[in-house]
Amino acid sequence: MSTSAQIGVTGLAVMGRNLARNFARNGYTVAVHNRTVARTNALMEEFGHEGEFVATETAKEFVAALERPRRLMIMVKAGEPTDTVIQEFAPLLEPGDMIIDGGNAHFADTRRRERALREQGIHFVGTGVSGGEEGALHGPSIMPGGSKESYESLGPMLEKISAKANDGAPCVTHVGPDGAGHFVKMVHNGIEYADMQLIGEAYQLLRDVAGYSPAQIADIFRTWNTGRLDSYLIEITAEVLSHVDAATGKPFVDIVEDRAEQKGTGRWTVQIALDLGVPVSGIAEAVFARSLSGHADLRAASRGLAGPKATQLGEAAAFADRVEQALYASKIVSYTQGFHEITAGSTEYDWNIDLGAVASIWRGGCIIRAAFLDRIRAAYDARPDLPSLLSDETFAQEIAAAQDDWREVLVAATRQGVPTPGFSAALAYYDALRAERLPAALTQGQRDFFGAHTYRRTDREGSFHTLWGGDR
Ligand code: NAP
Repeated sequence: MSTSAQIGVTGLAVMGRNLARNFARNGYTVAVHNRTVARTNALMEEFGHEGEFVATETAKEFVAALERPRRLMIMVKAGEPTDTVIQEFAPLLEPGDMIIDGGNAHFADTRRRERALREQGIHFVGTGVSGGEEGALHGPSIMPGGSKESYESLGPMLEKISAKANDGAPCVTHVGPDGAGHFVKMVHNGIEYADMQLIGEAYQLLRDVAGYSPAQIADIFRTWNTGRLDSYLIEITAEVLSHVDAATGKPFVDIVEDRAEQKGTGRWTVQIALDLGVPVSGIAEAVFARSLSGHADLRAASRGLAGPKATQLGEAAAFADRVEQALYASKIVSYTQGFHEITAGSTEYDWNIDLGAVASIWRGGCIIRAAFLDRIRAAYDARPDLPSLLSDETFAQEIAAAQDDWREVLVAATRQGVPTPGFSAALAYYDALRAERLPAALTQGQRDFFGAHTYRRTDREGSFHTLWGGDR
């Protein structure tokens, strides 16, 4: 058995297989292993010629095939299977070796695993990998956590296999210690949910309010993709909308059941935001919108509820321009919320995450890759302690220019009864942040009334309680 593999990949389903091929295509010798040997054999048969692979059947053979210190990458189903695989391999490893988990782990699990393995002298690198199976093969965006020392050894390999941004920079950076990488991947997915929801709302407005067909909307999205909204999701939206179902000749989007599924990372983003006290209302609305779409019975039972009277819309093309403004402004807000969550996580767990670097590695490979991430990076590079993306002068000016149209779009949506939870939540967030006074003062008064929870005054230091009238 050769002991020359620079990296090993165990778990050879779509992601692991393609990452292994990506390493091999980049000149690394890759040991491959899978619980069910048939997958290993299939990889060797189909793609063995692409580079240097060492096929192994048992855990012992796999570990023995790796050069020291060993780098062993796990690409199995997230959750319990990851623990099972760690328990299988860790006893075979030595201090200084490294386990890399590229699955979609919850960052709290990654923190736990990192702590336990550190006690055995094993580096544990929980890493986000984004871009699906195509990204895994041709270059994903990679978000590794773990120790600095581990990145010194692993980083150059990840930089080689990662996507490259337009300026040639690899879409990988050492995000921070222990669970930082998986945390940032989680928020990436949350932002992806929000982006998709906002795009969905723009589509529905163009269809139901402006009266465009899916093919026409595809063209509108194509045009938008040449401007500031240039991004992977806008690009594929145009593809999906122009696709015609071969069996019926109908627009593909009309023959798909309108029930959105989810795997859970968007939900985690919202759950963790609630724990951290970060208002990610746009991401939350995106998760809730998917959940609402799945309640078929509730929707069927509500179908007869009254809606508004139809009203006349002005010129459709002008409305489409307004929707572009609303989409762009709402998108700035959802990224603002996502970056706020990363800031809060970084403070809570002492990760010292470089937000500009995060924006930078999302420019290629991953799902939310968007031209405007360059601008987010520039905003954080210019001012690393930026309190919020909305405090960046350029973004503030863009929203100022967009806001009239944004509001008009929401007026039209409300009049026509088209649900726009993402656009609306984004505007409410914007208006709440810029408000001089919030009704939170009244909330504090109510809390003091019914529960003597006390309040702070605007004109004096200290906590106050009012003796409210009656027999309370
Ligand atoms: P998957 O369907 O999530 O998992 C299948 C792989 O896990 C198979 O290799 C399977 O082995 C192995 N496995 C499951 N339970 C196991 C156990 N108890 N012990 C050992 N091996 C076990 O595969 P995937 O879609 O390629 O994803 C791999 C990881 O990447 C997941 O964590 C996923 O969340 C993450 N991810 C996926 C994507 C994507 O687009 N698919 C994108 C980013 C990240 P057998 O062949 O023996 O069943």
